[in-house]
Amino acid sequence: MSSEVVVSVKNLTKRFGQQVVFENVSLDVRKSEVVAIVGPSGAGKSTFIRCINRLHPFNEGTLRVLDHQLSAGEALPPRPVLSDIRTRVGMVFQTFNLFPHLSVLDNVTLAPMEVKKMPRKQAVEQGKQLLDMVGMLEHANKYPKRLSGGQQQRVAIARALAMDPEIMLFDEPTSMLDPELVGEVLQAIQRLAKRGMTMILVTHEMQFAKEVADTVVIMADHTIVEKGPARKVLESPKTERARVFLKRVL
Ligand code: ADP
Ligand code: MG
Repeated sequence: MSSEVVVSVKNLTKRFGQQVVFENVSLDVRKSEVVAIVGPSGAGKSTFIRCINRLHPFNEGTLRVLDHQLSAGEALPPRPVLSDIRTRVGMVFQTFNLFPHLSVLDNVTLAPMEVKKMPRKQAVEQGKQLLDMVGMLEHANKYPKRLSGGQQQRVAIARALAMDPEIMLFDEPTSMLDPELVGEVLQAIQRLAKRGMTMILVTHEMQFAKEVADTVVIMADHTIVEKGPARKVLESPKTERARVFLKRVL
């Protein structure tokens, strides 16, 4: 892991109207670091990672993403900043939302061709490599509806990677999957970690977090209640709140 901080969150507070989603959240993420965010439902995990690629504004604090300093408030950053962030920070959601009318390969080649003006030949070549990496090359010509949830999610990962992001955000990528399909998606994510991708991953898979993440962050009661080296936090949490949460899920 290098020491370059690529995401720097300081005292971030997010409200929806009067409701505080989280407050005073601080977190630095370094290049090639894998950060797993865990915590009870409703803790604000999804909202937090959506603030990072500016799918949500925030109310207080500061947030730097790569070389962009984002400020609090409802106003969107200037368009070029926003599109630079969205290009360089990839996101994979709980639901797979592939384009249903496009084949697997076309799902993966569309954005680089449209957004980056990549020539088709190069986009196809890259797309096939990415599909191979997530174990989906043999399904390149199928349509999403003919795939299992785990297969669709692996295509969604390849599609996000096609923009060559510097940071990947995952929001519970396996929580909608049947248990037997979870492993294949986690394996694809683990492969990415080994390649040095910087990742922030919201997950309920504690064993995976322990094995793959460098850092574990526990969000509860509207803030980060504990963060540190994955094994340390998951095996011997310091705070009572973290202990209560982990006891329930481990
Ligand atoms: P988690 O991902 O940890 O389950 P969320 O970030 O989804 O938590 O939600 C945190 C809180 O913010 C919840 O109480 C949820 O109801 C609220 N919330 C999430 N999105 C919105 C929204 N768009 N408008 C209003 N409240 C929201
Ligand atoms: Mg969530």
